Amino acid sequence: MKKRTFLKIAGAIGAGSILSQLEQLGAKSAVPEKLKNWAGNVTYSTENLVSAKSVAEVKDCLRKTGKLKVLGTRHCFNTIADSKDGFLSLTEMHDAPVLDETAKTVTVDANMTYGRLAPWLEDRGFALHNLASLPHISVAGAVSTGTHGSGEKNGNLSTAVRGLELLTAAGEELGIAGEKGREGRNAAVVGLGALGAITKVTLAVQPAFAVRQYVYENMPLEAALAGFDTIQASGYSVSLFTDWRRKNVNEVWIKERIGAATPFAAKPEWFGAKLAKKNLHPIAELGAENCTEQMGVPGPWYQRLPHFKMGFTPSAGKELQSEFFLPRGRAAEGISAVEKLNEKISPLLLITEIRTIAGDDLWLSPCYRRDSVAIHFTWQQNWPAVKALLPEIEKALAPLDARPHWGKLFTMEPAVLRSRYERLPEFVELAKRHDPAGKFRNEFLDRYIFA
Ligand SMILES: Cc1cc2nc3c(=O)[nH]c(=O)nc-3n(C[C@H](O)[C@H](O)[C@H](O)COP(=O)(O)OP(=O)(O)OC[C@H]3O[C@@H](n4cnc5c(N)ncnc54)[C@H](O)[C@@H]3O)c2cc1C
Repeated sequence: MKKRTFLKIAGAIGAGSILSQLEQLGAKSAVPEKLKNWAGNVTYSTENLVSAKSVAEVKDCLRKTGKLKVLGTRHCFNTIADSKDGFLSLTEMHDAPVLDETAKTVTVDANMTYGRLAPWLEDRGFALHNLASLPHISVAGAVSTGTHGSGEKNGNLSTAVRGLELLTAAGEELGIAGEKGREGRNAAVVGLGALGAITKVTLAVQPAFAVRQYVYENMPLEAALAGFDTIQASGYSVSLFTDWRRKNVNEVWIKERIGAATPFAAKPEWFGAKLAKKNLHPIAELGAENCTEQMGVPGPWYQRLPHFKMGFTPSAGKELQSEFFLPRGRAAEGISAVEKLNEKISPLLLITEIRTIAGDDLWLSPCYRRDSVAIHFTWQQNWPAVKALLPEIEKALAPLDARPHWGKLFTMEPAVLRSRYERLPEFVELAKRHDPAGKFRNEFLDRYIFA
């Protein structure tokens, strides 16, 4: 999004009223620009956008405008971040992060990306507990959807939240603070953008640490399933990549935290797989230049925990993504159920990644109260075919109560999805209390959460 504040009026419903409201806020016209998500598969339904530079401007906007969605970095693949009415961008808020070395927290602007925050923390001797596969996403957008990395002892990125500064629909400040286990925090952190506009996020930090990663190629699926627990326990963060062809795990990425009680002994052969002799992309055919350093070379946590480097286009580019979270103890069952669909999946797939995540207490977290294994699909950008196949995958995983990633593509019926979140009715009540008129709701939230 361009730095300067701009506004473009789409001819549709409510445009007239939002125009006058935004004009009152001093928004200026500029070149029309269609807002799309990162993958380009979703063109957002309005170009009405206002940008706020301060909390006062956010409050003013919330009091004067109708329905809106707060924009993150637009990396979701579904319509959770879309709006037919208007967007509020916080990219012009540029406060420096505030580090509290005693409390071991950092407080950042909601729109700050992990890619900007991580080196800032490292320079001061601190680290976050984990990162997603790419660092380009905003902190508020990531924690609002339960974004995760890997590592059986690592909760998702939302579990690092120690506080949120949130403005309600009425423009009132709502500070949510608290240690793990505090109900307010548990209710609000994975909030899907439905509770209000987050302006600041406070995250737990820890002393900086170093990581090295090793990649193994071609592990027989049978060996990967039989040794699943040992493999997951062998690193701080472990990812299995497969294209589901030939009952084979194409690559296993082990991210070892240096100084771990049991260091990873990178043997040339391991569970039938061979240690890679060069850096690899998760899709082996693609060049590894945009991937983080491998081959056991130690480096700062933020240059090893994501798979993709900041400053490079991450992943494969033109793609779609889906992901389903299952109980960790049923990993082999879930992976085998998906494998049975391999002939239908592989032709549409770029790559699957299988990760483990520690359970948490966050009401709408896909890992709520269960240690989880997440089966992720990076698809070719062929939505009609993927849309036709997803119900088969969801049906195969239904006995395992699969929960879809909030920001990725799924076809599950809303009632089924709702049945998998026991705290959802309480969340709905909370959202209605802070946003009685549904200012922050969009079609996605109406369908899956509030219907
Ligand atoms: C290439 C790629 C790799 C990915 N890798 C991973 C991965 O490894 N693990 C994983 O779990 N996910 C992954 N994702 C998914 C991604 O992490 C999520 O979609 C995440 O939500 C992206 O954050 P965002 O800022 O782009 O959110 P957006 O898509 O911009 O917004 C998401 C939601 O958050 C809300 N929101 C954003 N900012 C605010 C705010 N300030 N106040 C209130 N609400 C707000 C929006 O309204 C919306 O509802 C990946 C996505 C891509 C494109």
